[in-house]
Amino acid sequence: MKKLLFLLLLSPLFLLAQSNQKIMLQVLGSGGPEMNDKRASSSYLIWIDGKSRILIDFGSGASLRFEESDANIEELDMILLTHLHIDHTADLPALLKAGFFTNIKKVLPLYGPYGNSTMPDTKTFIRRLFEDHKGAWQYMGDHLGGKADLQLSAHNVEYSREVQTLLAENNISVEAVSVHHGMIPAIAYRVNIGNKSLTFSGDMNGEFHTLEKLAKGTDILIMHNAVPQTATGTAALLHMTPQTIGEIAQKAQPGTVILSHRMSRTLDKELETISEIRKSYKGKVKFADDGSTFLLL
Ligand SMILES: [Zn+2]
Repeated sequence: MKKLLFLLLLSPLFLLAQSNQKIMLQVLGSGGPEMNDKRASSSYLIWIDGKSRILIDFGSGASLRFEESDANIEELDMILLTHLHIDHTADLPALLKAGFFTNIKKVLPLYGPYGNSTMPDTKTFIRRLFEDHKGAWQYMGDHLGGKADLQLSAHNVEYSREVQTLLAENNISVEAVSVHHGMIPAIAYRVNIGNKSLTFSGDMNGEFHTLEKLAKGTDILIMHNAVPQTATGTAALLHMTPQTIGEIAQKAQPGTVILSHRMSRTLDKELETISEIRKSYKGKVKFADDGSTFLLL
């Protein structure tokens, strides 16, 4: 029996099945913009077959967490930005600069939201950071259509309350939908890998009722727990309360909900948060910490 198991483990089919299934979410940043919570700001990394392939947001502190996770810039396929707030994008220049010191030779696509009167669109945002002779870090202009080996290619995700497919290549597809984050253009993403999927809410307050459509039946749904149930005013305009988290999860029926973007407003209120969520959603709920990993089986 043992011998049979050993032979089975060595069979190419078993190895293939295993490799197809090895998808892992790693939380690089589980905090918000505050600097007193010992957490990096928002950032997530999807590992596929041991390779660090897809980054979602890259807020302050995420670059150090990226290093700690032994991720490799050369393995990155794409970056998805939920929105352009500092706590979701601040370490991007550090990532681009670090790429210079690797053997990376590729065009790295970066997706992010459309613009409005409050925020630039993603292409403009990247241009303002790195463009030759104009950008804040204009000495990095070679990475935008110049001679550098690592080219950053920015794409705007347009406003849409219907789920749109951004790309579908090999066994990976990325879907997106607009979510309500006050005046800030914001996008939720679903990454499908084979028959598995991970959905990222980003910051949002639930008003568009779009996340539940995007996340329907997803394996892992990462939701931002930035405010407590008692939130009012701007906080409630920007972020979902635990009750809203529960209602969306109940409609989406994910395998697991992971609560992240934890701030001083919600840290130490975990029991309260869970009991509000439980009023409508009875499935699995876990809290994220920096470095947490979640395997999709
Ligand atoms: Zn945020």
